[in-house]
Formats: sequence, C-alpha cells, structure tokens
Amino acid sequence: MIYPLPKAVMADVYEGHVSTILSDKVSIPIACDRCDCETEYSIQTLKTLPSISCGHCGHTRKFSQAEFEVLKQFLIQAGFHFSN
Ligand SMILES: [Zn+2]
Repeated sequence: MIYPLPKAVMADVYEGHVSTILSDKVSIPIACDRCDCETEYSIQTLKTLPSISCGHCGHTRKFSQAEFEVLKQFLIQAGFHFSN
C-alpha cells in the first residue's frame, strides 16, 4: 500500500527543487530539424534567440521566442528556476 506524502513533506521537496538556480552557462542540447542531431548551446546564448546551426549537418535555423518559452517551462518543471 502506498501512502500519500504529507503536504508538509511535499512542500519541502518542492522548496528544495525550486531553490536550484540554473546558471546561464549551462548548455542545453537543441535537436536539429533536419538530422535530429543535438548541438549544445548555453542558456545565455539561447536567450538572445540566435540563429543556431547544427554541428552535424550545418543546417541553420532561428531559435524562436516560443521555443525558448517551452524550454524554460520544461526546465522549471524539472525543478530549476532562472536567475534572470
Ligand atoms: Zn543537423
């Protein structure tokens, strides 16, 4: 039988997660549209919505604001938050 965790414990776990500040220097792998290979870019770079080019096939595309927002939400859900 699985007992649900008391709310206080859940809150502590949550607090522990959100206190993990994600550095701008952290590299995030971005998958290429054409070949699916991943090339890593730092969050600092991605924030500027750069043109990103694949390290494998050289395919270049623009990293969009919408993509950055998706990435940000994903990282927040994974327990990180941004120092901005
Ligand atoms: Zn590629």
